[in-house]
Parts: sequence; C-alpha cells; structure tokens
Amino acid sequence: MIEDALVALKNGGLVAFPTETVYGLGADAANKHAVMKLYAAKNRPAFNPLIVHCASVEQMREYCAWDDRAEALANAFMPGPLTIIVQRWPWGKFPEPDAPSVSEEACAKLPTIALRMPDHPVALELIQKYGKPIAAPSANPSGMLSPTRAEHVRQHLGDVVDVILEAPNPCRIGLESTIVDISMRGSGWELLRQGAISQEGIEAVLKMPPFPKDEKIRSPGQLLRHYTTHKDLVLDVTEPLPEDALLVFGVAPHPAPRHTLNLSPESNLEEAASRLFAYLHLLDKTDAKRIAVMPIPEQGIGVAINERLRRGAFRPY
Ligand code: AMP
Ligand code: MG
Repeated sequence: MIEDALVALKNGGLVAFPTETVYGLGADAANKHAVMKLYAAKNRPAFNPLIVHCASVEQMREYCAWDDRAEALANAFMPGPLTIIVQRWPWGKFPEPDAPSVSEEACAKLPTIALRMPDHPVALELIQKYGKPIAAPSANPSGMLSPTRAEHVRQHLGDVVDVILEAPNPCRIGLESTIVDISMRGSGWELLRQGAISQEGIEAVLKMPPFPKDEKIRSPGQLLRHYTTHKDLVLDVTEPLPEDALLVFGVAPHPAPRHTLNLSPESNLEEAASRLFAYLHLLDKTDAKRIAVMPIPEQGIGVAINERLRRGAFRPY
C-alpha cells in the first residue's frame, strides 16, 4: 500500500494517512498543482496554509530559518503532536535561487511555514520513503469534523482521495497538533492552537510565557466555526432530554437516552480526546435532533477538547 501511495504522490495525487493526532490528507508539498488539488478536494479556502510534514528535524531545517527556539522545541517534542510556525528564510534575506522549497500555495503565500514531524510509523515511513515533505491538513471537508479512522476519510472524501493508508490503531491522541508560532523576531512565542502538548509544556521549554492572546485571528485557519456536526451541538448539558444523542464524560445519567456514548467512564481526559471525533461522527449519524455533551473539565487536554467543542457548537446565526 505504501508503494501505491508513493506513486500517487509522485503523480500529483492525494494520499490519506494516519498520524498520532488525526488522519492527514497529503500532497507533495513542492508540487503546486497537487497542493491546489488538495485545497479543492477539501473545499479549503486558499488563505488557510497547510502544515508541512517532515520525517526528520534535518529535513525541516532545509525548508526554513531554523533557530534556537525551534531547536529546543524539536528536542523536547519531535516527533510528536506539535506544529511550529517559523520564517521560511532568515529575516531581511531573500531565498537562495536553488534552495529547497515548498510551493507558495502550501504556505498560502506567507513568509512563514508550518512544520511538523508526526509520531506515527505509517506517516513517518511514507514521508521518509517519499524523500520530500508532504503538505497535509486533516483529511476532512473544510470546517467539518476531523477524521480519526480510515472509514471517516472514505465516507467524506472517498471519491477525491487516491490512496487511503490504514493502521491498526490510528490517531491515538485524537486531536489536532498544538500550534506554536515562533516566527516573530526575538524570543517570544504565541499559542495558535491548543492540543495534547500544553501551554505549560511549551513555556517550560521556551522559558517564557506566550504573548497575550489578542482577539485578532492570527492563524488564518482559526475561524470560529469549525469541527461542525450536521446536528446542533449543545454543551455542558447536565440534564439531557430522552431524545438527545448524548456524549457522556464520567458517570452516565439514569436513565440514559437511547443514543448515548461515553468518552471515558473512568473520567480519563486522554481517553476522551482519543474518542472525541469518532463518537461525534457516530452520534451525528443517529436520528436524534441534537447532540448534547455533558461537562468536560477544563484541565490538561480537556482545554483542547473544550476548544474543539465550543467551535463545533458555535452558530453564527
Ligand atoms: P489543519 O491543517 O486543518 O490542521 O490546519 C493547520 C493550521 O495551521 C491552520 O489553522 C493554519 O492556519 C495554521 N497554519 C499553517 N501555516 C501557518 C502559518 N504560516 N502561519 C500561521 N498559521 C499557520
Ligand atoms: Mg483541520
């Protein structure tokens, strides 16, 4: 299967592959046409840049202006669920004419690049054998629930993907990577997306707190509405209705609605994160009117879970 995927990438095709976070939809990051096909397949706006996946830190260094912050984060968290945003070339310099580069489209024509090394054997083997970075957003239609199983990809993007790679236990974390922006001059940093690696974990490595969050959307893709279910999603429900599709964390109510799934009967937040999208996909397919979610503690990876849920529940009208 990996061989089929390599051929597809070489021919400008799209390959879905498991990572430890969610399923990625990959294209050759250097192939402009492949990258544009990827945006079209997801119906993703062209201003929303892609994460460029590498198989090693050495490979990452070739494609950006690497610095001490990047080195420290790579030592601490790579491979792993962390994406760093860095300058593509050093401040005040133009790129060398034949420097290795990804297509402008993959970076949405920004002077910065998002880099990640996934911690999954299938993803790493694919990138390693391909020998070049792979641009890969999540393998879902833009704005919809993220995929954590091959069947999610098959169901929602099956007709536009050339190869879907399988793995026995894909996506053990289940939430997208933490995104840290270290592209600004100096030593500061910003947290652009919550994930399994916590703000405190990043602070400990970079030895300073992040810049305070402003209301502006800094990361082009961080639009408010995302992770959308077809049904209405209602949060912090303590008294669900019998006709609800219910997502429980911890102890389920008695009697529980007919469509009830428990993210973690033992109240384990990591387990809940790993099941979140798969259970939302399932509840979204029931005949219930709405999906009700019981409260999830705002601790550890619970912060990232709640951020996904709030954006899924947001309705602009
Ligand atoms: P996804 O691939 O769907 O997980 O989304 C990747 C996220 O990374 C998007 O929200 C992008 O906005 C963000 N991102 C990628 N590249 C950059 C960049 N150069 N600057 C800021 N954010 C970025
Ligand atoms: Mg996504």
